Amino acid sequence: MSVAENFRAIKSELNDKIILVAVTKNHGVEVMREAIDAGATDIGENRVQEAAEKFQSLDRAVTRHLIGHLQTNKAKAAVKLFDLIQSVDSEHLAAAIDKAATAIGKVQDVLIQVNAAREPQKSGVLLEDLDALIKFVDAAKNLRLRGLMMIAPNFPDAEDCRPLFRQMRKLFDELKTSRQDFDFLSMGMTHDYKIAVEEGANVVRVGTAIFGERIYT
Ligand SMILES: *Cc1c(COP(=O)(O)O)cnc(C)c1O
Repeated sequence: MSVAENFRAIKSELNDKIILVAVTKNHGVEVMREAIDAGATDIGENRVQEAAEKFQSLDRAVTRHLIGHLQTNKAKAAVKLFDLIQSVDSEHLAAAIDKAATAIGKVQDVLIQVNAAREPQKSGVLLEDLDALIKFVDAAKNLRLRGLMMIAPNFPDAEDCRPLFRQMRKLFDELKTSRQDFDFLSMGMTHDYKIAVEEGANVVRVGTAIFGERIYT
């Protein structure tokens, strides 16, 4: 199946309120264009440098998501490139993004990435540190907290992710009751997005199922 067919097939499974982020990391700008021609409105990239090059040669308006870990020294470039930074996981990083956003007069939309499964190799704030980070982001003048992001463990059986997705949805709902603009719960990738959606994700980040396997050279 082509990129366009893959994209449309997944899009048609999802209700209209769910944002399908087409994850183009490690793929060229040509396939990014194919996805956009097929109706993709949201593009996800992991690395600032790679995204900068690809977005430069892209002549279409799309919503740009940074979904990978961000180093503070790239905050300036990230703020210029991305509509939504999904990977805020420390006060240090939040401060750097706020500073960069302030410098260019932008209010930067962000999600806080939560390491719900406490995987040592993964980014994301631990649950017990989430409240403090939310407070910090709230106090930052040029950040707007739009929701939460989670990357589930790569369990062989994606069903094993379900309790984590459910836990995140509960947390999201609780926070949402007392907040404004808190709209996005980003969870679910190729192997687990169906379960994430069943458990209440409203942003899914799908790469492989649209573009095929990534080739790392
Ligand atoms: C690469 C990546 C994805 C997409 O992964 P697939 O398994 O290819 O769908 C989603 N989210 C994040 C944070 C990623 O790094």
